[in-house]
Formats: sequence, C-alpha cells, structure tokens
Amino acid sequence: MKLIDLLYRAVASRSVDIMELMFNVNNILKCIGRNIIDDTIYVSDLTRCVLRAAYVRRLIHVHGIEHAREIILRKMLDYDNINSILMGFIVQYGLERFLDGSTVRRSQITWRRVIDVDGIRLVISGKPDYEMIIDGRIIPVEIKFTRRNIEKPYSSYVTQCSIYAWLCNAPYCKLLIFTPERVIEREIGPATVEYLRLIVREWLSRAPLWEWECRHCLFRDMCRREDRERIRNSRSIRKSIKILHEIENQ
Ligand code: SF4
Repeated sequence: MKLIDLLYRAVASRSVDIMELMFNVNNILKCIGRNIIDDTIYVSDLTRCVLRAAYVRRLIHVHGIEHAREIILRKMLDYDNINSILMGFIVQYGLERFLDGSTVRRSQITWRRVIDVDGIRLVISGKPDYEMIIDGRIIPVEIKFTRRNIEKPYSSYVTQCSIYAWLCNAPYCKLLIFTPERVIEREIGPATVEYLRLIVREWLSRAPLWEWECRHCLFRDMCRREDRERIRNSRSIRKSIKILHEIENQ
C-alpha cells in the first residue's frame, strides 16, 4: 500500500489531523522568502548548497512571494520526495504526542549571534526544532528522520547541531535521528568560532555543498553550470555574496 493511502486511512479514522499536517506544510512555506544573506545567515541554510537559497530568492524576485511559495510547493509535490515529506510529518506528529508532558518542548526562541568573517559582520540566526531545560540552561534538541538505515549521523546533521549549540550558548545540542530500524542519539558540542568561520567560507565557495545534494535538489531545473563555477571560483566571501545577489536578481 502506498504511503498516501495510509495517510488517507489515518485521516479518515481521525488518528491524524489533516489540518495539523497542512499547518506543518505551511510552516515550511513561511520560511521561504526570509532574508538569506543580506547580513543574516540561517543555520538551516548553512548546511545545504548556497545556490538553493539564491534560487529561492530569484523566484521571489521574479514572481513575488505568494507565487514563489506556490511554485516551490508544486516542486515539492511533483518531486518524488513527497513520500519522505509526508513520512516526516507523520513521524513528527506522533513524536509530539509522545513528548507531550515531557521536559522537551517546541523551541520558543529564534537565536541570533554575530560573528566577523574576513572583516564582514554576519548574523547567524536559527531556531532548533525543540529545546529542554537542564540545570536552568536551554539545551537545543534537533530531530531528524531518514528512510535509510544509517548507523551514524550524517556530517550535515552534526555540523548543524554544533552550530545550534554555539548559537544557544549551550554545552551541547541533543541530536535524535529516527531511522526505520533504530533511534540514534548523540550530544554534539558547540562549534568554535574558528570552525564556524570555516563553515561560512566553505558554504560561500562550494556548490553543491555535499556531493549527494544535486540528486535531491528541487532547483535542478534552474541550476546553471555557470552559476556553480562562479561560486567555486570566487576568491573571497565578499565576492561570493556579490555573485549570489547577481544570481538572485537575474
Ligand atoms: S542542483 Fe546542486 S548545485 Fe544546483 S542548486 Fe541544487 S544542490 Fe546546488
């Protein structure tokens, strides 16, 4: 049976609230269109290809925010990752019921911290999925779902958690990964400022950021070799930011 049929049954039997599922989709779409690199870099963007953020901005520039959201939603639904998206929502829905009443709650704060990278002032901003209070301190909690039976976290997950721990001034970020076979749990310590600078420099000089990224990218149809080469050949972060603005405004 297809996942979509299972979802239909779950909704029909009222074990899943379709309004809540749609609310989650809406939350994703709300993130689209935020300021990407004027002076703020979002943690979730830092762990994926910088061109994706530029293409989102271009869609907004050309079509306006509402139509851009529609285009991206259609891309998400057309693309064969719809099963993963729905699975993520369903697992998250179940997880929140499970966590209800525990010490883990949805994050309340959007965190911001300033760093200087090669003479440029940047704000790193982000909101982890969840948080818990231990000894009076907020500990960020990041939850991931994967259909693959991995045994250790992807490096992108570890990087993201280390940035959240730094951002929240926390001793670590709790990472929980739900796979079909197991739950992987790790405590990831904070990134150092030097490591964070390295991450920002890499982010602004690589496209894609990870080898496997293009296979799952919603923006493959927009992505041009020329854009990738311009980013890879940029010699400084100031130059990369200028190139990204040019790509966004094409
Ligand atoms: S196709 Fe690859 S290089 Fe192009 S935007 Fe997507 S991840 Fe980046």
